[in-house]
Amino acid sequence: MPTDFSEAPEFRGVVALDGPSGTGKSTVARLLARRLHAQYLDTGAMYRAATVAVLRAGVDLNDPAAVAAEVATSRIDVGTDPEHRSTRLNGTDVEREIRTAATTAAVSAVSAVPDVRTQLVAQQRLIIGRAPTVAEGRDIGSVVWPDAELKVYLTAREDVRARRRAGELGSLHSDDVDRIAQSLRRRDAFDSSRAASPLRRPDGATEVDTSDLAIDEVVELLAELAFRAISAADRA
Ligand code: C5P
Repeated sequence: MPTDFSEAPEFRGVVALDGPSGTGKSTVARLLARRLHAQYLDTGAMYRAATVAVLRAGVDLNDPAAVAAEVATSRIDVGTDPEHRSTRLNGTDVEREIRTAATTAAVSAVSAVPDVRTQLVAQQRLIIGRAPTVAEGRDIGSVVWPDAELKVYLTAREDVRARRRAGELGSLHSDDVDRIAQSLRRRDAFDSSRAASPLRRPDGATEVDTSDLAIDEVVELLAELAFRAISAADRA
């Protein structure tokens, strides 16, 4: 039964939501932000926009200095309204381009460059510092905002993650699901094994397996954890 938070205090903190792809992270983060009247930060969209910049410029992905230099001269703006996703690169809308297969295939290489992370993490901290936030990514609770009032690490079984991702892409043919499972596995392996801020469960994070939960159930659970976390912080 949903908990009644009508008497709950306003949410004033930060929720750090980390985990691999296909766990429902983005949907949960947006709905949770709406529920908490907080801003929403999709850090993956920032790495994706950086990747679009690098691909457009034809920069060699194996040249970290050139990749970082291209990102340094690019302006990346992400919207923080949970009702409306928006990503701009140098003033133009790239919301569709950041989700193409070509961008997805290259994003792990770009996000593994330490200088790229330094630039984007600085920007993420500025955004988070402005207002209560639900931020999603791979390193929010470990690097970007380790003092988050609530840290959550979302997981799901691989078959579930692949089917969800296939559903998002509008294809549920079993060959496509197998191909997507392979691509998720590759990207997770890359993200987890890189030297700079690898994907891992942050210290103090609550792990939530979303495999057998509906999105609304996950959002309610996290809203409850978020309100408890700020009441505990108020009492401390
Ligand atoms: O969350 P999403 O799938 O859009 O993230 C795309 C990629 O961006 C990830 O596979 C990862 O390489 C990178 N990323 C990251 N750190 C974050 C968010 C995303 O390295 N905080």
